[in-house]
Amino acid sequence: MFLTFGRAARPVLPTARGAAILLQPWLSRPFDPMPPPFTDNPLCSCIETEPCALCRFCKAHNTQRGRKALCEKVTRYLVLQPVYQHALAQAMHALFPDKIVHDDEKDICTMLFEAVLFEDTSAGTTPFSYFVDNAPLSPDEKRLYTAWRSHTRHGLLAVEKVIPGEEVHVAALTGEKRYRVYEQRATTTLKKGAVVMARIVPFLNAWMFTTETILSFSGSAGERLQASYGLVIPQFVFVRKYHEDHKRRMAG
Ligand SMILES: [Zn+2]
Repeated sequence: MFLTFGRAARPVLPTARGAAILLQPWLSRPFDPMPPPFTDNPLCSCIETEPCALCRFCKAHNTQRGRKALCEKVTRYLVLQPVYQHALAQAMHALFPDKIVHDDEKDICTMLFEAVLFEDTSAGTTPFSYFVDNAPLSPDEKRLYTAWRSHTRHGLLAVEKVIPGEEVHVAALTGEKRYRVYEQRATTTLKKGAVVMARIVPFLNAWMFTTETILSFSGSAGERLQASYGLVIPQFVFVRKYHEDHKRRMAG
């Protein structure tokens, strides 16, 4: 809470007895109400009022369905490629050796597929990278997916603000980066203060989620997750641990 008085309008801390201590300017930094700016992405090359080709391309896809189609284009191509089929089969065998996926494990499956897509390098390159290099793509698609390859981020993100039907503002729990994420569907369920485990990629002049499976935790649960899983969490590692925890919860 900030208390202000007079024209000084400097933050003060209430003490146990209710009196206030005026913070010295050099001590007031941690209480600075100005958050760091949103993280840019490398996509846009607009010149003044003239929108660039990639912005026009993204705007044409800037609906829930349009963004989903961009993600589906990747898997639709890869599902026919032996390199992806093999990686997927290996990952599925590791997590589900008895080949049974229960209803309550479908989210885990979705996350596993995405981990394979972006992180599996058993064939020397990730399936996503294989897609970027080999799929027939328009120049705009090629630039967009190339940016996804270099700038994707997976991990715990704190929800700072939800603009219903439009966007979600999130911050990395490490505190150094904030992102504006175009999202429609999840704005009905995500709450300010929650922590989500998600993957984001560059889109238009901000970011987008790559999947509709977004795990959401209360703020304190998010902190516990961070403590047990670490600051930088490869999706593979997370999915494996999450699945183990899930089985333990079900058994206990
Ligand atoms: Zn642009």
